[in-house]
Parts: sequence; C-alpha cells; structure tokens
Amino acid sequence: MATRVYQCLKEIGDKIMANKDFLTDLDREIGDADHGVNMARGFAAVVEKVPEDEGDIGAALKKTGMTLLSTVGGASGPLYGTAYMEAAKVFAGKTAVSPEDFKAALEAAIAGIQKRGKAVKGEKTMLDALMPAYDAFSEKVDAGADLNEALDAACAAAAEGVEYTKTIAATKGRASYLGQRSVGHQDPGATSATLTLETIRDFLKG
Ligand code: ADP
Ligand code: MG
Ligand code: MG
Repeated sequence: MATRVYQCLKEIGDKIMANKDFLTDLDREIGDADHGVNMARGFAAVVEKVPEDEGDIGAALKKTGMTLLSTVGGASGPLYGTAYMEAAKVFAGKTAVSPEDFKAALEAAIAGIQKRGKAVKGEKTMLDALMPAYDAFSEKVDAGADLNEALDAACAAAAEGVEYTKTIAATKGRASYLGQRSVGHQDPGATSATLTLETIRDFLKG
C-alpha cells in the first residue's frame, strides 16, 4: 500500500493543533501547562522541514524525530523525537506500510522512549497508551488481521490506557511532583499519543 507520509504527518499536526488547548489544559492540572504548546510547536516545524514529496517513509520519520528533538522543549520533545527516530529505522527506504513493519516500528518507538525516559508501564506516561496499543496491535497482526483491524484494536487499547492513567499516580515526569494528588487526572502525553495513533489509523484507512 503506497502512502504519502507527508500528508499523514500534516494530519497528525492538524490533530495536535485542534487539541492544543485540551492537551495544555490537561498538563495544567498535573504539570506546567505546556504540552499542547510544545507539541504544536514541534509539528509546525515538522510540516515545514519534511519535504512534501518525500517518498521514503523512513527519511520522513527521521526528519520528524530530529525536528521534534530540536524544537520541542520539556520531556515530550526528546521522548517523541526518539520514538520517531527509532520508527524511522524500521521504515528506512520504504514507501508503504505493512502490518509487520508497523508492529516493529511501534515496538522500536516504545523501546526508544523507555531507554530515554526510564519509565515502565503504570507510571502515568505516554507509555500507558502506547504499550497496550502495541500489545493489541501485535495480537491482531499475529492472528492474521489486516492493518486497519489491527490499528482499530491499537486505538481502542490506547484510549483505554488513557482512562487508566486517571486511576494511577505519576511516578515519572513533572506530574510525579504531585504524587497521589495526580490521581484523577488524565495524562497529557498518553492523550497525545492516542491522538497520534488515531490520526494514523484514519489516514491509512483513507
Ligand atoms: P514537560 O513535562 O517537560 O513540560 P510535556 O508537558 O510536553 O513536557 O510532556 C509531558 C508528558 O511527557 C507527560 O504527560 C508524560 O506522558 C510524558 N513523560 C514525562 N516523563 C516521561 C518518561 N520518563 N517516560 C515517558 N513519558 C514521559
Ligand atoms: Mg508540560
Ligand atoms: Mg514543560
């Protein structure tokens, strides 16, 4: 399946822009009220830096990661930056998305986030959306599902993961300064990760 990676990145940027205030408000509750601003700044730069006619998905993702690393401050910049750079390696030289590659890319992205941020599941971070999404995605793919079906399962699991973040206390990132007082609030990074997956799913469905 041929895909236009620039268009997909642009749609992720549009989604983040549309949810900029929402993400920032979530971060106001348990952080420093900048997650939407950070991500919007990052993706505004991404759509400027990634060539519109880029056919190589890996090259576009690498550019995305590098741009996020250099333009987004805070925790989320290096973490998302690393995630896209790791996913880029899987898609190097590729112009289409297979379920197997998507699975490998998600796995690599998560490993990169964990290497960089030292968080595990259950610490109220973006990993609480991404790790269940990966589990659901691979279960579907391993059972022979197509990309759309697997992405639907991944998005449902990510959304459940966001709900789960409301029930736990943060032990990583700024929200951890609040300790138990972070319970009851939804994690901004898990929310932006879910919005990202949903946009990719909708884009690939075309
Ligand atoms: P900052 O907290 O530096 O202001 P952002 O507000 O942009 O950065 O991003 C906050 C989000 O980053 C959190 O909601 C959480 O999901 C994620 N995050 C923070 N620390 C980590 C970590 N160590 N591992 C994974 N995700 C993290
Ligand atoms: Mg913040
Ligand atoms: Mg900040």
